[in-house]
This record gives sequence, structure tokens and C-alpha cells, in this order.
Amino acid sequence: PMQENVDLNQVAKQTMAFLQNEALHRNIELRAELAPDLPHTATDTAQLQQVLLNLLENAIDAVDHDGTVTIRTRTEESGKRIQLSVIDTGKGIPKEMQGRIFDPFVTTKGVGEGTGLGLSISYGIMERLGGGIAVESEEGEGATFTLTLPVC
Ligand code: ADP
Ligand code: MG
Repeated sequence: PMQENVDLNQVAKQTMAFLQNEALHRNIELRAELAPDLPHTATDTAQLQQVLLNLLENAIDAVDHDGTVTIRTRTEESGKRIQLSVIDTGKGIPKEMQGRIFDPFVTTKGVGEGTGLGLSISYGIMERLGGGIAVESEEGEGATFTLTLPVC
């Protein structure tokens, strides 16, 4: 992938702006909790946008209507990695499903609504970028997807 010097907060804002209309229609608040002075990362903006767009679309789908989707950025304790979390107040992911959602073609969406490829592609992208993607969720209490990327 093309490695550029990227401000993750900028990518977060751009990607959120892209979904603002959709969120408004469904009465979903898009919230940004962005760390000031976030170090830059050497990454591929287009690919990162693709990952983030999928996470935000999944979050909006999970909330369906009336709720919140938050993007939060922070620097890890060590100062060596940055985290970006997408946190939603949606239906959550059953424990027994959490180990499978990064596999291709795993979807709970209807025909024509989901391919089940978003998270598997995202997993591959994050690996190639030298980072990672992880999920935490309680069924009925929403989900948090966290991306990690190395600092420049
Ligand atoms: P798709 O969106 O096409 O279904 P993904 O790979 O993006 O494929 O997601 C796979 C599945 O993981 C979804 O169908 C859904 O069941 C589950 N999932 C992903 N994100 C969330 C989320 N934020 N909340 C609840 N379930 C989710
Ligand atoms: Mg998806």
C-alpha cells in the first residue's frame, strides 16, 4: 500500500461527513471525540477510509434508528500506536458470533443488503498497513471496533 503521513483525526472527520445525511435521516447522532495533538501515522488514506466507512456503515445498520455512533481517537500508553474506535449503541454482537465476523461472507443482513465482505476486507487491509482491528461487544449493548496503527 501507499504509505503517506496521515492525520487520523482528519480521515475520521471526512468519513463522518460522508455519512452525516444518512445518520440524520435515522436520528442517529454522529459524535467525534478526537484526541488533540494526535501523532500522525504512516498509512494509506484511501484504504483507511474504506475500512472506516465500512465500520461506520455497520454501526449505523446496528443502531438502525435513534442512537449514537462515536468515533474516538487516542494514543496508546507507549506512545507507539494510535487507536481509533467506532462505538455504537446498537444491538450488539452475540459472543458466539464475535469470532466469525472477520471471516468472508459472514453476514446477518438480507440478500442485497450485505455481502459479509466488509470486515474480512478491513481485516486484510489493517494487517497490510501494519496495524490491527478488534471487536468488543455485549449483546444488546452495542459494539466497539478498534483500529490500531503505528505512529510515524
Ligand atoms: P455486512 O455489513 O455486509 O453484513 P461485514 O463484514 O461488514 O458484512 O459485517 C459482518 C456482520 O458482522 C454483519 O452482518 C453483522 O452481523 C455483524 N456486525 C458488524 N458490525 C456490527 C456492529 N457494529 N454491531 C452489530 N453487528 C455488527
Ligand atoms: Mg459491512
